[in-house]
Amino acid sequence: MKILVTGGAGFIGSAVIRHILSNTQDSVINVDALTYAGNLESLPNADKSSRYCFEHVDICNRTELDRVFKTHMPDAVMHLAAESHVDRSITGPAEFIQTNIVGTYNLLEAAREYWNTLNDDDRKSFRFHHISTDEVYGDLLHPDEQEGNALGKELPLFTEQTSYAPSSPYSASKASSDHLVRAWLRTYGFPIIVTNCSNNYGPYHFPEKLIPLVILNALEGKELPIYGKGDQIRDWLYVEDHARALYKVVTEGVIGETYNIGGHNEKQNIEVVQTICNILDELVPKESNYSEQITFVTDRPGHDRRYAIDSSKMSKDLNWTPVETFETGLRKTIEWYLENQSWCQNVQDGSYQRERLGEINLPDIGE
Ligand code: NAD
Repeated sequence: MKILVTGGAGFIGSAVIRHILSNTQDSVINVDALTYAGNLESLPNADKSSRYCFEHVDICNRTELDRVFKTHMPDAVMHLAAESHVDRSITGPAEFIQTNIVGTYNLLEAAREYWNTLNDDDRKSFRFHHISTDEVYGDLLHPDEQEGNALGKELPLFTEQTSYAPSSPYSASKASSDHLVRAWLRTYGFPIIVTNCSNNYGPYHFPEKLIPLVILNALEGKELPIYGKGDQIRDWLYVEDHARALYKVVTEGVIGETYNIGGHNEKQNIEVVQTICNILDELVPKESNYSEQITFVTDRPGHDRRYAIDSSKMSKDLNWTPVETFETGLRKTIEWYLENQSWCQNVQDGSYQRERLGEINLPDIGE
C-alpha cells in the first residue's frame, strides 16, 4: 500500500510512520506543514528508505493537496495533521478552526476528487482514516462526583455511541472535523473510518504536554506545575500502541465504522507527576526528591475532569490490545528523554520556553 499520512512530523504521526517503515512493506507520503509541533528529527531514519517521501504542504492549501494526490496516487489517507494543544486553543482558537476544520474539509475534497478518478477496484479499496480524540465526548463522571446509591458502582466509559459534548476550542474543532468526515460518507459515499483515542504519551512528544514538560522541568530543577488539585483523570496510552492500532484500523477496519482506542490506564494528573518523580529519583538521584518541585497553579478554564475509553470494539473486532502498562511505558518514555536531550533542545526553537499557556481572565458573571 501507498499511504498518505498528514501530520507525520508530529508526535503520533511520526510514530505511525516509524511503525509502517519498520514493520510493513508499505510506502508513506508524509504531508506536513512543519508548524512549531512538527519536526523531521522525529523521523531519524526515514530519509534512508526508498518507501518514504516528504511533502512540505499545508492542508489548507487545496492546490498543493491536488498536486500531492495526482503525483503520488495513494491507496489510503491517514489524517493526523491538526493543532493539538488545548491550552493554545484557549488563547488562540483561530488556527484550530483553520487547520482542524477548514484543513480537514480541504483534504476531504482533494481526496474525494482524486478518488473519483480511480478505477472501480481502486475506488473500492481506498479509505480515508480520520484520527481524532476522546475529548470530543466532553467529560465523564469523576469518582468524587459519585453520590448516594451510585457509590461503588462502575464509572461510565466513552463508547462509540457516546454523544459529542466538547468543552474546549480544540475539542470542538476536532468534533467538527469528525462530523464533516462522517457527512462525506453519508452524502458522497466517500469511504471513511474514524478513530477516537485517549491521551497518548511516549518518545518525541513536544514538551508543552504534561508528561514531557514534567520530565524536563524536573531535570532542570524547575517547578512542576499542577493545574487545580491535580485530580483530573486521563486514560493514558503509549504512543507506539496507538500507532499499531491505527495501522490495524486503516488496513483491517470496516468502512463507516468508528473505533475507540484507549489504554485502560486511568490516572489522576497528580499520580502521573508523582510516578515520574519516583522514577527520576531512582534513575537520576539527587539530594532532594523531585516531588518537592511540585506546585499547584490555577486550573485550566473549562478543564474536563475525567476521560476513560471502552476499547472493547478494538479488541473484539480487530484483535488489538495495548502492550505497555502505564508503568512500563512511562519508564521507557523517561529513559528516552534522558537519552535524547538534543531533540528536546532542537524542537524548542526559542519562541517557547515551557511557560504557562492558556491562561485567560474570565469576566465575573456571578452564579
Ligand atoms: P502534534 O501537535 O504533535 O502534531 C501535529 C502535526 O500536524 C505536526 O507535525 C504539525 O506540523 C502538523 N500540522 C499542523 N497544522 C498543519 C497544517 N495546516 N497542514 C499540515 N500539517 C499541519 O499532534 P499529535 O499529538 O501527534 O496528534 C495527532 C492527531 O491525533 C491530532 O489530530 C490529534 O487531534 C489526535 N490525537 C492526539 C492525542 C494525543 O494525546 N496527542 C490523542 C488522541 C488524538
